[in-house]
Amino acid sequence: MERLRTLPGDDVRQIMWRFADRYDLQMVVQSSRSIARTTAARLVADGARNTHDWTPEKEELLKAFDASGLTGMFMEPEQGGFIAGPKNLAMCLVAYELSWVDGGAATCNLATDLALAPIHERGTPEQKDYYMTKCVPPQPGEDREVWRGAFALTEPLPYVGVDTGVVSGKIRIAEWKEGEEPMIQVEKRGRFITNMAFANFVTAAVNTDDERIKSSCMVILEEGDEGIFDPGAPTLKMVHQLSATNDPVFSLKVPASRIIGGYTIQDGVIVPNYSHGEIIAAVFQRTRIPVGVMTAAKLLSAVEPVIRYQRGRFRGGESKPGTPRYELGLQQNEDANHRLLDVWSTGEAMASLGFAAGRMADEFDPIEKEKDRLFIEQAIKGPRAQLKALKPKEQEAMEMVQLRARPEGERDQARLEALEADPLVQYSYLSAMSNVYIPACKLWNTGYGCQMMREAVAMMGGYGITEDCPGFLGQKWMDAQLEATYEGPEVVQRRQLSISMTGPVFSAQVTAWIDELKRRAQETPGRGHCTLAAAFELWAWTVEHLQSAKDPEGKPLMHGRRQGVTFQLADALSWLVAVKCFMDDIDELAEKGQMNPVVAEGLDALVDFYGDMATWQAARAAGETGRVAADLVFGYILHPDCAGECCGPEASGNLFDGAEEFYALRRKVDAAAAGARLAKDRAAADLTKVMIPEALDYPL
Ligand SMILES: Cc1cc2nc3c(=O)[nH]c(=O)nc-3n(C[C@H](O)[C@H](O)[C@H](O)COP(=O)(O)OP(=O)(O)OC[C@H]3O[C@@H](n4cnc5c(N)ncnc54)[C@H](O)[C@@H]3O)c2cc1C
Repeated sequence: MERLRTLPGDDVRQIMWRFADRYDLQMVVQSSRSIARTTAARLVADGARNTHDWTPEKEELLKAFDASGLTGMFMEPEQGGFIAGPKNLAMCLVAYELSWVDGGAATCNLATDLALAPIHERGTPEQKDYYMTKCVPPQPGEDREVWRGAFALTEPLPYVGVDTGVVSGKIRIAEWKEGEEPMIQVEKRGRFITNMAFANFVTAAVNTDDERIKSSCMVILEEGDEGIFDPGAPTLKMVHQLSATNDPVFSLKVPASRIIGGYTIQDGVIVPNYSHGEIIAAVFQRTRIPVGVMTAAKLLSAVEPVIRYQRGRFRGGESKPGTPRYELGLQQNEDANHRLLDVWSTGEAMASLGFAAGRMADEFDPIEKEKDRLFIEQAIKGPRAQLKALKPKEQEAMEMVQLRARPEGERDQARLEALEADPLVQYSYLSAMSNVYIPACKLWNTGYGCQMMREAVAMMGGYGITEDCPGFLGQKWMDAQLEATYEGPEVVQRRQLSISMTGPVFSAQVTAWIDELKRRAQETPGRGHCTLAAAFELWAWTVEHLQSAKDPEGKPLMHGRRQGVTFQLADALSWLVAVKCFMDDIDELAEKGQMNPVVAEGLDALVDFYGDMATWQAARAAGETGRVAADLVFGYILHPDCAGECCGPEASGNLFDGAEEFYALRRKVDAAAAGARLAKDRAAADLTKVMIPEALDYPL
């Protein structure tokens, strides 16, 4: 039986990414797909990417988003939207579908949502209602323009970039009449601001330049405000040209009510309720996920065009139908299939991680609101007081993780249910987990994804780096580099992971995962669980070892300033977490696929194929972990005197405390890769048999 008859379709994806019972999300997928494969694809095919300016042709995209309902998707139903509740998963799906064809189209769609995000996360109820409703396209009978927004954090050098603390944008009090609302003067220059060519409003990060304003904040600027609202020159970017990017200049007088989240007046001083840093942290926590998903879509979208190119490579010459050269073309060569499998399995792991992060953010949103409500009720104010109040909950969150890891009959079920019902325990758990999942998704998907896009481009030979390349792979490769850069480049994610990966709740979860993976390895062998368990064990051991290890000068290795240590561990962890998510999705498919008649037919064979792919991906992740672990554990020890067998097993056994344990774990990781290449061979062979359509379903 063919294990992979066709490339995975919607029924399979809905199960794996958990929206089979969400009709609203399925509609979102259909709307974005149709725009991606008509308007966006036509624009790219017609060369619209060859200009930096925002043209009437590109404007068609906005109209298509408006007409399809996608523009209003971010809003609540009472504000004119159509999805109630959190929309992180929905945004991931839109990003996935649009980026399947063009990442710039995805950015164009999501940019107003990014502009609205500060208002959504921390705005006052009035600000939310006002701006959200303005950004929904007019309903029948309404006569108004739909508003578009831009988010302005980044400033011209040497100010805000990676370091969001060095804000040069300033606010001062312009007028403050007795009994009236203060007016503030805003001076802000932006660099690389998306949507700016046509934005009607901007959410801008600014610092205080006035002793009568306590702190930094974010303000809302409108194009009709008194002063200068200059969109500035278009950025001469080589990527995402279906979105508009400019370097704007603002010098505007606005009422203090534009401070996002409001303010109080204390002793004659305006005290913003939220600093710009607090708002940005809340915004990026969510909006980075769809960016990671965008790159995943690129890799998965490359599979079909690459197979078609490989198979057709020698047709039309001397080769005859029925001969391997004619039927398989480049697919006769093992390397061609192996490399494509690497691209595909990476794309799967990325998508699984991205959608898992999106679902987690959806789960987290109401929990965070409930936490805020409880803290207001209990008069717990400010980050420090909140941390103190949450500290005991951390212990309980760890207990919850440990209880969940035990088999049902062997645990205190009542205690588990009590912990699960406590919103502060859930908050503690989900914040620890999302502080790993979200930066890992942005970091690994975009950074490593960009490297793998180069592989996809390479597989198309010279065609890959032409504008005619089917699937626009060359453009996607370059676009991936922007996805790795904007909303915080890799360093920002690595810094966040450096802190969150050693947190007690996440560490407890890693221990629980190791047990769970070992159990799953016995229940469903052949899906790579055991390899991943061994790799997680080695990673966790290395983290613990490095936490007390010192360099020859006696300086600690695990330190915020030692990016050479922490960043490597963060990268290895991202590989591992991505495979974990992929395996979870395969298990979900194996279980739920039975209930869908379309998927049930041939399900076992498909799960086998995916199991091989996951086994291979787990071996790659384990390889990365082994390399990083050895590099860090040995790399900071002085090389012994190299007379004789200095680096042999005898001598190296004494190089550091715990060496035997380390070698045992490394041996386990190496041995756990047994069969991984065989799995790869099988999955790669499937690539030569899978049926693909005659042509891409979008214009070239
Ligand atoms: C097309 C496009 C659209 C954009 N849209 C927007 C937008 O809508 N709104 C907005 O506000 N911004 C936007 N940006 C800006 C984007 O978010 C920034 O470019 C990005 O955050 C990086 O900042 P930077 O360019 O100043 O890089 P820099 O801060 O100069 O970083 C340069 C390099 O140094 C590294 N680096 C920096 N600091 C450290 C450190 N502490 N440790 C180690 N390495 C470090 C970085 O990783 C990077 O590799 C956009 C950018 C582009 C290109």
